Amino acid sequence: MDRVFHHFTTLACAAQIIDEGIRLGRMIQVVEQGYVQMNGYQWLTTDNDYDQAWAAQSPQLRGRTEVRLSVVVPALEFNNLKHWVDICGDDDLAAALKEQGGCDSWWLFKGVIPPEWIKAVLSHEDFAKGEPGWSELCACGAIPTQKMMNGKALDMAEDVCDACYSEKFKAKMLRTGGLH
Ligand SMILES: [Zn+2]
Repeated sequence: MDRVFHHFTTLACAAQIIDEGIRLGRMIQVVEQGYVQMNGYQWLTTDNDYDQAWAAQSPQLRGRTEVRLSVVVPALEFNNLKHWVDICGDDDLAAALKEQGGCDSWWLFKGVIPPEWIKAVLSHEDFAKGEPGWSELCACGAIPTQKMMNGKALDMAEDVCDACYSEKFKAKMLRTGGLH
């Protein structure tokens, strides 16, 4: 099953990422001589909350949660996904990051995340205003598997996931008396 992850960025960087994909990420590793930066690793998280623990440290870091991009990684690419806690090692840097909390949600994708995998974009500001943003995902954030009529015309069909489909279907049946 494909999986949904999120990538947070600044308003300034969002347009370029939407256009070119997520490709400039890097991972830092501690070596004897100090640190090495390894290009080609994109940061993802399973946590969709704009209040990311890593961003609470400074206003500059908070700015990096201005926009949330939701990405669907196809199951065939899971071999390129690494859970950060499995590969972070036990150096001081890793310990400091773990101390902040929330790192169980962090994943790294080895390679480039193409623009086609980006399925939803919503700024923190619009989220706060209750705007839906742009999304091809179900309203709950999951991958849609069904279409459901939400209006009169067929072209108003809404993409929903299995769970929301059953909920909505049940609610509709109860409303119309089709289910007792
Ligand atoms: Zn749903």
